[in-house]
Amino acid sequence: MPTCPGAVLDQLRAGHQRFLDGHSLHPHSDRLRMLEVEAGQSPVAAVLGCADSRVPVELLFDTGFGDLFVVRNAGTMSTVAAIASLEYAVSHLEVPVIVVLGHAACGAVAAAFDRELSLTPSLAQVVGQLRMELFSLGGEDNLEEACRHHTLNAARNLVDSSVMLTDRLRSGRLQVEAAYYNLHTTSIEWMGAVMAMPQG
Ligand SMILES: [Zn+2]
Repeated sequence: MPTCPGAVLDQLRAGHQRFLDGHSLHPHSDRLRMLEVEAGQSPVAAVLGCADSRVPVELLFDTGFGDLFVVRNAGTMSTVAAIASLEYAVSHLEVPVIVVLGHAACGAVAAAFDRELSLTPSLAQVVGQLRMELFSLGGEDNLEEACRHHTLNAARNLVDSSVMLTDRLRSGRLQVEAAYYNLHTTSIEWMGAVMAMPQG
């Protein structure tokens, strides 16, 4: 099992390339593998993604049981629950990589454009946060740009909300990568590593 961030990212990129080439191996997807990891998990990476049914993280990286620690919610939001889950993956399961995987045509981001939408209180909280992000983007009505901007924001917010993740980043034991999934090409574009805020 690779443990340095670079090797893990190479493994994820290779799995995604197999998927793109139509040569997915569907590793670790049978009952036997499940029994292997029954006693304990040691996933190679953690992923924060959207709940959207078109973004099945394990399939996109050609992985199976016990390989990825996946946190998904509508809009790929760095909520308290998401941050806590990822902190657990890093501090207890020692994952060296977190991928924040946003995607094109995200319904949560699209909802932020629509002022007429009637929302439940919980949805209004999520969409309200996305509206604030759009506001900082300059109010342009460009869903693609907004989805990309939000992916980078989610990754930035994740790191900036956690002392533990920031410490790990600074010590080089963790890498946080923003990535963007294009529904049409089905390919993942790597947007770059998130750096820890300078100290002091
Ligand atoms: Zn989405």
